[in-house]
Amino acid sequence: MAGRNFLFVPGPSNVPDRVLRAQVVSMEDHRSPKFPSLWEQIAPGLKKLFRTTTGTPFVFPSSGTGCWEAAVTNTLSPGDKVLASRFGQFSHLWIDMCTRLGLDVEVIDVEWGTGVPADQYAERLKADTGHQIKAVLACHNETATGVSSDIAAVRKALNDAKHPALLFVDTVSGLGSIDFRFDDWGVDMAVSGSQKGLMLPAGLGVLCASQKALELRTTAKMKRCYFDLGDMINANATGYFPYTPALSLFYGLIEALKVIEEEGLDNIIARHTYLAEGCRAAVQKGWGLQLCAKDPKWYSNTVSAVMVPEGFNGADVISRAYHRYNVSLGAGLSKVAGKLFRIGHLGDLNEVHLSAGIVGAEMAMLDVGIKVQPGSGIAAASEYWRNNEPPAGLLKRW
Ligand SMILES: *Cc1c(COP(=O)(O)O)cnc(C)c1O
Repeated sequence: MAGRNFLFVPGPSNVPDRVLRAQVVSMEDHRSPKFPSLWEQIAPGLKKLFRTTTGTPFVFPSSGTGCWEAAVTNTLSPGDKVLASRFGQFSHLWIDMCTRLGLDVEVIDVEWGTGVPADQYAERLKADTGHQIKAVLACHNETATGVSSDIAAVRKALNDAKHPALLFVDTVSGLGSIDFRFDDWGVDMAVSGSQKGLMLPAGLGVLCASQKALELRTTAKMKRCYFDLGDMINANATGYFPYTPALSLFYGLIEALKVIEEEGLDNIIARHTYLAEGCRAAVQKGWGLQLCAKDPKWYSNTVSAVMVPEGFNGADVISRAYHRYNVSLGAGLSKVAGKLFRIGHLGDLNEVHLSAGIVGAEMAMLDVGIKVQPGSGIAAASEYWRNNEPPAGLLKRW
């Protein structure tokens, strides 16, 4: 097929050319005296990205899911109660993992298209005067429905109840794209991965742990081996790893952290807001369609989940976009399968690049019979972008 594939699944995201190139390296001995210089370049960048001075970052050769497991098994004991909410496939999968690992999960099910119910958490935590709840789970950015949640409000719920439970946050599709504050929000375990805001191939699980979380390792009785933070801490102390690290991805990560540093984290967050606003204008003003996110306070700046009108199947739009226009859109998962398609807009992206996703989705919708006004999506998006100042950093060249 001529031309490139345009990738708008919300992970993996587009990898900048210089980050791709940085990974083309000959293999090295990961026990050599030179090797620790890699971790020395990575750890400080990750701490900045998590906005922490007190937390400890970890990188596993896994995907984000591995760090869900690391967060839980290093701090909790079998049968411990955890409080969680479910409103999409990713919040569901972490709950499912906790159940399968033998935890007692109290699930608050809320409507898909909404996010973490901080008020319900507050009530539940206040009522738990015996402190049975050992950890609270929160999905910062539910990639399946395009919903972002207020993690500061979850911290406030814990503080108001004077509750000592740990705060675990899944920010796999939030970190490096939307505002995340490990220290300010008193997060104990933050889980992420390489293939979203970090603009890398999949293959690294990224975790940040608070001092309080790390101290619990001595009493946490859940079985753990590969994801044991103790082994990591011991090896990382001298810049090494307890098993073979993903060398190429380390070089990629060093370069990606440089790209992030050069644009500036605040600028990156502003760019994601600006691009997402354009995409939402296309969906709502242009096409006259609904987002899965029920209210502006839930809108995600990294992914827009677009509801297809009654009588149509989102999977047909995705299939048409892929086969006819070489555009990859994100699928509706589980409960929302067929009801929506997703346009990922995170990572290395600008207006014109994102326009390809909007135009591709629009042509595919028209082809399957969805009656949107031809050209209306890009008209609305470009109107937004042309009338708003681009965030500093967007026009930098590197
Ligand atoms: C992508 C994603 C995950 C899963 O991460 P993997 O790297 O695929 O294991 C978990 N949570 C959220 C919110 C995600 O977007």
